[in-house]
Amino acid sequence: MILGNYIDGKWIAPRSGATFQKHNPADDRDLIGEFPASSAIEVQEAVTAARRALPAWRALAYDARAAFLTKAADRIASRQGEIAAALTREEGKSLPEAAGETGRGAMILRYFSGEGLRSVGDVLPSVNATTMLFTERVPLGVVGLITPWNFPVAIPLWKAAPALVYGNTIVFKPSEHSPMTAQMLAEVFHEIGLPAGVFNLVQGAGEAGKALCAADGINGISFTGSVATGKAIARTCVDRGLRYQLEMGGKNPVVVLEDANMERAVELTVQGAMKSAGEKCTATSRVIVVDSIANEFVKRLVTRVKQLEVGAGTDAKYYLGPLISGAARAKALAHIERAKEDGASLLCGGSAPERADLSNGHYMAPAVLDFVQPTMSIAQEEVFGPVLAVIRVPDFDAAIRVANDVDFGLSASIFTRSLDKAMRFVREVEAGLVRINGETAGVEPQAPFGGMKNSSSFSREQGQAAKDFYTQVKTVSMDRAD
Ligand code: NAD
Repeated sequence: MILGNYIDGKWIAPRSGATFQKHNPADDRDLIGEFPASSAIEVQEAVTAARRALPAWRALAYDARAAFLTKAADRIASRQGEIAAALTREEGKSLPEAAGETGRGAMILRYFSGEGLRSVGDVLPSVNATTMLFTERVPLGVVGLITPWNFPVAIPLWKAAPALVYGNTIVFKPSEHSPMTAQMLAEVFHEIGLPAGVFNLVQGAGEAGKALCAADGINGISFTGSVATGKAIARTCVDRGLRYQLEMGGKNPVVVLEDANMERAVELTVQGAMKSAGEKCTATSRVIVVDSIANEFVKRLVTRVKQLEVGAGTDAKYYLGPLISGAARAKALAHIERAKEDGASLLCGGSAPERADLSNGHYMAPAVLDFVQPTMSIAQEEVFGPVLAVIRVPDFDAAIRVANDVDFGLSASIFTRSLDKAMRFVREVEAGLVRINGETAGVEPQAPFGGMKNSSSFSREQGQAAKDFYTQVKTVSMDRAD
């Protein structure tokens, strides 16, 4: 079955006939579908359709646009089981996690539907008594959404929902690893009767993303993915004078101090590191633990990680499913080999399981490495897999130094009962998302989301912060005619 792009309200087969296949990462023999490998021609058609649809869409009342988001939320909720099943089949995460993400998608749409009735400007005192001085927000225009595969429902929706409610039209280029859920999102917008051209989908890999950044008539790109891709997109956007927003990788630390609730620290470190097979931008990848409790903490951590069962996401008894691809697993295993050569000790996992029922999937046993030094590549580079590096430090000051000694700054957490240390951590840790006694992963749609340093372009998504990217400010000064 060859599936189409969704352009100008219609499902369109690729003109060139070029397609790509998507298989199930839990079982490579399972072909999910064949999707358009879109060229610059199809991408341009989509951008042109979005531009045509823009005047009528932005002219609607906020409330009318918001009503479409509510309908989309209802539709996603009614298709939750089906979308979650497709998500697990193409991405590999467990069914409960996939259902949770789909439910979150509906919640994001509802939240931004509510934003449609909130203030979008300020009134300012003018130096002239008769002048009315105020700001107004207008849409950015046609926006390109380029997204990764690891949250293929939530991430596109946390970009699309604010884009739509603030009056923009969209061309969505999902990851080539998650085309089916992208197709379902486009179906949802079609089914609720969103006007043609307001939401367009072009499938394909990096070339289609590149073409989107180069298309005539695009005004901005909202990107989530790896640092290398994000920086390439930023260069194009700067050259072309487009607005851009980048959310990228992480090397997220958990700090465990001597007064921590150790049971909680172990459980939430494991959860943050190993759920979704560690394929979250906010996944815990370093645990920085003070020497005085390090032996006990590591013992409990390894005991817990060894209990985690690996298997197909469709079976709820498994804690983690496969990685997204053979290449992703090979990369994670290579990181482990390099860490061992650098002197780290592998305490568990870190290889492909030998079970016959897993032999056609990209599975790996979750790994814990001890005695990692902050300068090792395993402590510096994003692995994006179920791999946790333990770094032992003498005290809290060293923990903060090590936590900050990376190029990333997305999420960070500390386990402690000390209010003073928690407050210092909040102030000094270089991360856009800070947790006290919580796991590094997780986000709520009403709160700003984004990172510092190489994790982000200093912008924020979600919550009211999303308005800053999807709108432009006009300052209006209004006077009497006579
Ligand atoms: P990726 O950079 O390989 O791909 C992301 C998207 O960019 C895909 O749609 C891809 O087709 C497209 N793309 C690739 N090359 C392109 C180019 N030259 N021009 C335009 N588009 C191009 O990333 P990925 O492997 O899909 O996702 C994993 C990465 O995403 C990890 O680094 C992870 O940390 C990050 N991530 C970040 C967040 C966040 O919010 N900070 C959330 C999820 C994932």
